[in-house]
Amino acid sequence: MKLFIFFALTFIFNFYSYASDLPNTPVPGGIATISIGQFSTAPLVKYKGKRVMTIQDNNNWYALVGIGLSESPGQKHLDVHIATTKNKIDFNIKNHKYESQYITLKTNKHVNLSKANLDRHYKEKARSRTALNNWQEIPLSTITLKSPTKGVISSPFGLRRFYNKQPRKPHSGIDIAAPTGTPIYAPLAGTVTEEGNFFFNGNVIFIDHGHGLITMYCHQDENLVKKGQKVKQGDLIGKVGSTGRVTGPHLHWGVSLNGNMVDPLLLTPELREKAHK
Ligand SMILES: [Zn+2]
Repeated sequence: MKLFIFFALTFIFNFYSYASDLPNTPVPGGIATISIGQFSTAPLVKYKGKRVMTIQDNNNWYALVGIGLSESPGQKHLDVHIATTKNKIDFNIKNHKYESQYITLKTNKHVNLSKANLDRHYKEKARSRTALNNWQEIPLSTITLKSPTKGVISSPFGLRRFYNKQPRKPHSGIDIAAPTGTPIYAPLAGTVTEEGNFFFNGNVIFIDHGHGLITMYCHQDENLVKKGQKVKQGDLIGKVGSTGRVTGPHLHWGVSLNGNMVDPLLLTPELREKAHK
C-alpha cells in the first residue's frame, strides 16, 4: 500500500500543478494525499465518519485527509463510497515530534479562568467548532494558499506550549508577527462563516473555502468582513493586532481540513520558502 501511495504521489507531483506544492505528510497535524482510483462519479470519502476533500484530475480521484494533532500514529482507513459500492482504503500515520515552548504571561487572566470567562470561552469554542467542521459542496480549483499577511513566522505549528509553566494544547496554527494595523488578506476565495471577539482568539474570523477547508484569523486589531460575506483571494479581511491571549501583535493563522487543524505551511509554498531560508 505504501508503495502504491508513493507512486500515486510521484504521479501527482510530476503532472499536476495543483498538487506540486502539496507535500504528503501523513503525520499528526499533517495532510495525507491518497489515490482513490478512476471513477466516473465522484467518490464520497470519509475519515472517522467525516467527509474528506476529494480532487479529480485526469479521471483519477484523490483524497486529501487532514490529520489531527492528537492522533496516534499507526494504520488508519478511509471509507470510500462509490455509487452503491463501499470499500476501505488503508493508510499509515507516522510519528512526528514537535518542539516545546514556554510562554510567560503578565497575568494569570488567560491561564486560570474565572467562571464568567470560562462560560464565555465554552460558548465561543462551540461557535469555532461549528465553523471549523462545516462542509460546503464547492469543488476547489486550487488548494494552494497565498500568505495572508506580511511578517515573520514567530511561532511554528505544533509547538507543545506551557503558559506560566502550565501545559496547554499544542499550537494549532502559525503565528506571523507584524506591527498592529498590518493588512490581512484572504489566501483563497471563500465565505465568512463566523466572526466575533473571542476571549482567547480576540477579534477572529473564519473563512470557509469549501470541501472542508476552513481558515481562521485570530487576535486581529479589527475584523473587516461580516458573517455571510463572500471574499475573493487577495481581498482585505482584517488587520494584525493583539486582542485576546497574546504577548504582542501577531496574526495567529489556523487552517482546518476535515475538522482537523493542520500545518498552514503545507498549503502555502510562499511561506514555506520563507520559513526554510
Ligand atoms: Zn498562535
